[in-house]
Amino acid sequence: MRDVEVIVVGAGLAGLRALYSFREAGFEALVLEASDEIGGVWNHNRYPGARCDVESYDYSYSFSPELEQEWRWTERYPTQPEILRYINHVADRFELRSRIELRARVEAAVYDEASATWAVHVQGGRRFRCRTLVLCLGQLSAPKLPSYPGQSDFAGETIVSANWPKGRSHDFTGKRVGILGTGSSGMQMTPVIAQTAAHVTVFQRTANYSVPAANAPLTDEEDRQVKAHYGERRQLMRNSPTGLGFLPGKTKTLDAPAEEREAVFEKAYHRLGFGFALTYPDILLDEKANDIATAFLKRKIAERIAVPELRDKLTPSTHRFATRRPSVDSGYFEAFSRPNVELADIKAEPITGFTADGISTTAKHHRLDVLIYATGFDALTGSILKLDIRGRKGQPLRDKWREGPLTHLGVGTAGFPNMFIVAGPGSPSVLSNVMVSIEEQVDWFVQLLKHQRDAGLDEVEVTEDAERDWTAHVQERARETLYMTADSFYNGGELPGKPRVFMPYSGGVRHYRRLLQGSAKDGYPGFALRKLGPAAKARAHA
Ligand code: NAP
Repeated sequence: MRDVEVIVVGAGLAGLRALYSFREAGFEALVLEASDEIGGVWNHNRYPGARCDVESYDYSYSFSPELEQEWRWTERYPTQPEILRYINHVADRFELRSRIELRARVEAAVYDEASATWAVHVQGGRRFRCRTLVLCLGQLSAPKLPSYPGQSDFAGETIVSANWPKGRSHDFTGKRVGILGTGSSGMQMTPVIAQTAAHVTVFQRTANYSVPAANAPLTDEEDRQVKAHYGERRQLMRNSPTGLGFLPGKTKTLDAPAEEREAVFEKAYHRLGFGFALTYPDILLDEKANDIATAFLKRKIAERIAVPELRDKLTPSTHRFATRRPSVDSGYFEAFSRPNVELADIKAEPITGFTADGISTTAKHHRLDVLIYATGFDALTGSILKLDIRGRKGQPLRDKWREGPLTHLGVGTAGFPNMFIVAGPGSPSVLSNVMVSIEEQVDWFVQLLKHQRDAGLDEVEVTEDAERDWTAHVQERARETLYMTADSFYNGGELPGKPRVFMPYSGGVRHYRRLLQGSAKDGYPGFALRKLGPAAKARAHA
């Protein structure tokens, strides 16, 4: 059993930021990472075309002005390899590697009430003991796969996009490739794979909205401009609802004259990517407002589809714009103009079975050499509940969250003292530029732990009253929006049997930050702060 003050689980963007900040505050922190490389989802999602749809300058750490000035992004939207290089640069630049244990898959964490410490069990038998456990497991990092009858009969190459085999070439020359799933991952990889593959079949269950990325190389002049005003840019990000730096317009959609609205939409569509959803403040709040934005986007999508018979099939019809996560793509709809790209509409013509050489639908048999699952994730709770986490009296977190996640401010849950969650359920997480959310929360945790240390407290624990109120508040905020009108990974709709509750906090990063800061200022209401006495301290150090 090795003793460490703070154990951080996961060496992705959140884990590295946590390690850096805890270390700077004088805590002895150690990161345990299951993989043989750092980077989290950016290590695993090595699929062709993988790219972030938040701009490079904003999808980066703000804690070091020197780092901001030194690092040179090359494109407006960073590719997966570039983000992974950045993450590795940060690890080297701030000498983090000596405090990261790779190939250390945490299987379980068990709270010991007598000593107020966590015992952390790593695959292979190693054990650690810590006062504070920080989960940086990623919000979209537990891949989910479909289970069609006979799926394992397929004898060709099978790849999971979220776990792309390291070193697997992106060249599919001569291959017939099937892509199952048309979320951001499927939409990003389709045009790229189509460039080399002999044939691509895209299996679509639900057509998805997308705004073109308007990606481009970053010029030296742009770089100088951004770096000259980086501080202001960060301030704008932190004070925008999503952490993307876009402030919604003040005029309501229906109050704007139609012509003006069209011009605003048009401009946003060609430049803002995700920010399109914020052109008017009520797009996600009001059905009529949403109808107008949705109609505009449908029209735009139809214009990008050259094959008339495909327009209806590829244009979303089952949900409103932005009620599920839209994509920001580079040439997805245009790819269907290529003679080697085919759409299999598996809602209209469902899959009937898998064979050694492909997938059959009610319409035809699709012969495949390679099948790529781009079927998404068990979002927000999946990565946490994969671990066997046991709190007071041995209560499994899986039992406690059976009806959905319960947290106070998204940072912790009652019965699991000294355990904190970064970018998880109950926080803005997947509804925000997650870099802003991560940094906000990590800084707050550091402040909390300093308070704990200075006051000689053994336990910090969310109270049941606070988590009941916060969880109700998260639902209440979601009910003010249109988010619950569609099944999505925001609300458990991505997985059969998952509790259908809204998981992220939709109140925006700015409001969320105010709540966090208010909590610290007021002495952490909603948290029980305890000293356990000399016996517990002795046991912790035994
Ligand atoms: P996703 O958005 O959840 O999409 C999964 C796709 O797989 C959907 O089209 C879904 O269809 C389909 N699918 C799931 N189960 C299926 C089944 N049993 N049979 C047929 N189809 C099935 O997952 P994702 O594309 O990996 O993206 C997830 C999120 O990760 C993104 O929204 C984004 O937040 C993040 N991401 C970001 C980027 C980026 O920054 N650009 C890139 C990739 C991912 P249904 O819609 O019918 O369920």
